[in-house]
Amino acid sequence: MIFEGLASKLQATLKKLRNKGKLSGKDVKSALKEVKLALLEADVNYKVVKQFIKRVQERAVGHEVMESLTPGQQVIKIVNDELTELMGGNKSDLSISSKPPTIIMLVGLQGAGKTTSAAKLARFLKKKGKKPLLVAGDIYRPAAIKQLQVLGDRLDIPVFSMGDKNSPVDISKAGISKAESNGNDVVIIDTAGRLHIDEEMMDELKSIKSNVRPHEILLVVDAMTGQDAVNVAENFSESLGIDGIILTKLDGDARGGAALSIKAVTGKPIKFVGMGEKLDALESFHPDRMSSRILGMGDVLSLIEKAEASIDAKKAEELEKKIRQNEFSLEDFLEQLQQVRNMGPLDQILGMIPGVSGQLKNLQVDEKQLDRIEAIINSMTIEERKNPEIINGSRRRRIARGSGTKIQDVNRLLKQFKQTKKMMKQLNGMQKSGRKKMRFP
Ligand code: GDP
Repeated sequence: MIFEGLASKLQATLKKLRNKGKLSGKDVKSALKEVKLALLEADVNYKVVKQFIKRVQERAVGHEVMESLTPGQQVIKIVNDELTELMGGNKSDLSISSKPPTIIMLVGLQGAGKTTSAAKLARFLKKKGKKPLLVAGDIYRPAAIKQLQVLGDRLDIPVFSMGDKNSPVDISKAGISKAESNGNDVVIIDTAGRLHIDEEMMDELKSIKSNVRPHEILLVVDAMTGQDAVNVAENFSESLGIDGIILTKLDGDARGGAALSIKAVTGKPIKFVGMGEKLDALESFHPDRMSSRILGMGDVLSLIEKAEASIDAKKAEELEKKIRQNEFSLEDFLEQLQQVRNMGPLDQILGMIPGVSGQLKNLQVDEKQLDRIEAIINSMTIEERKNPEIINGSRRRRIARGSGTKIQDVNRLLKQFKQTKKMMKQLNGMQKSGRKKMRFP
């Protein structure tokens, strides 16, 4: 889970303040000492931590907090505000040119996730109604061109390439002409990285920049490299000039130091974060939502967005009707399960629910159990899914065998489903009588 250590420590510290009627200066000081340690352990840049604590301290011991009725809550609010500010304050959008095509150049070291992010970004923009063209400008890493083509094919997004015999400047220029003639309104150029920053790479990127004049230069950095990512960002920002950052592999970053330091150190905002290897695992970066997640206040807005993106409104309506008419079947159950799982790994989803993230570390989300449930339902015939009552002993054995599970697993699922249906029926009954009451008071 992202920010796991930091989240649990901050939440524990702030919990002590939450319900205090009155706070002394000493209470605040000792809490802030713990906050400081937690941030340092999360690998946040030392200078950034010092400034952060100073700002929170100044505000927290101020008159308005100490005299307020809920001083503990006020301090939490200040920490939340300052964390948000630390990560950039408002969300930073891409600058889209009024005269298409908008040219976006991706830069970064090898392995940071540039090629993957190029494809993810193209998908993201396509979903927003844009017509992107990907340009394969990484002519050094073997297989980079092929990789981009495969990803483009999978997303049904065109990829422009000229092999590895032309210069990246020529490829980029030709790619832009192609976009103009093809009506593509966004061009995403994947450039070559190196294992370390070197002059040759920077010169090449500068040359692309001056020839192509991109509207956005986005630096791709790997969150898991912590302060190294921050140093890389500082270096690129100074030598080349960048407009924003795509912070990848945040899904694997339990500490969060890069996410929390990069804006303060470089002055450049994180615009997107990579949350997994899959092509839909790219999110716009919202500092306020991320801060709420860290403090265990959840991130309901992102949750709703994810649900809207992956749950079909029409199907949801049909489902509601089925539940009302008591026709909810195992088939519908399976579909529901799959839709929820489409939203992403369950620990990420649960972490967005207020209050849950703090408890998550004690809760092992068992994705395997869900795999088993899917396998069991998949091993049933359509008739059995619609009418689970017909599933007798021999059918249960067959289903267990077919799904590679135990007969007890099948029994448990059928029992749970029966209980769920019973509950739905009761709820329906309650709603109906409630409605009647409303109409005939
Ligand atoms: P490039 O050399 O910068 O072009 O890097 P690639 O795009 O080839 O990515 C390197 C590796 O990182 C690949 O295995 C990707 O699947 C993986 N990767 C990229 N972004 C993410 C992310 O957000 N999360 C995770 N878990 N893996 C990622």
